Amino acid sequence: MERIAVFPGSFDPFTIGHEAIVKRALPLFEKIIIAIGHNKEKKCYFPLDKRVKWIKKVFKDELRVEVAVFEGLTIDFCHKRGVKYILRGLRTSTDFEYERMIAQTNKFMAPDIESVFLLTTPELTAIHSTTIRDILKHGGDVSRFVPKEIDLDSI
Ligand code: ADP
Repeated sequence: MERIAVFPGSFDPFTIGHEAIVKRALPLFEKIIIAIGHNKEKKCYFPLDKRVKWIKKVFKDELRVEVAVFEGLTIDFCHKRGVKYILRGLRTSTDFEYERMIAQTNKFMAPDIESVFLLTTPELTAIHSTTIRDILKHGGDVSRFVPKEIDLDSI
């Protein structure tokens, strides 16, 4: 069976922190599905179609990366796609506590799925989509925090 991981998130926007996690996980998996969780009730900063387009652009030369959109539970999406691994990144102990709660709950509900965590490299620990959105709201330049293929002004 193919070793496939789903990397779920809102990616609002996709950052160099996310990019690094995917690149470091590629040697571990045959394929990675970057899955944008879409919740009609939750308002995101960037439109869904742009988030999809930007991530596809970043990995246009990497055939083992797919970009998908899903609604509902990550474990349901994994089951639908026959995926056994959920990939997540860990920056801080705050991330750890949140991720622990989600991963342990997922394990109760879907014992066939394993969550796999990669610790961020130190220089990327401070990179949060939330901070990037705040900088943007105040007219700041965030280009250094997103992959070079992404032009956030193109919305
Ligand atoms: P969510 O919407 O689920 O909170 P995000 O879209 O913010 O998730 O991020 C998706 C995943 O990427 C999460 O596991 C998050 O911890 C991880 N992540 C985000 N930023 C970084 C970073 N700078 N370094 C490592 N992992 C990160």
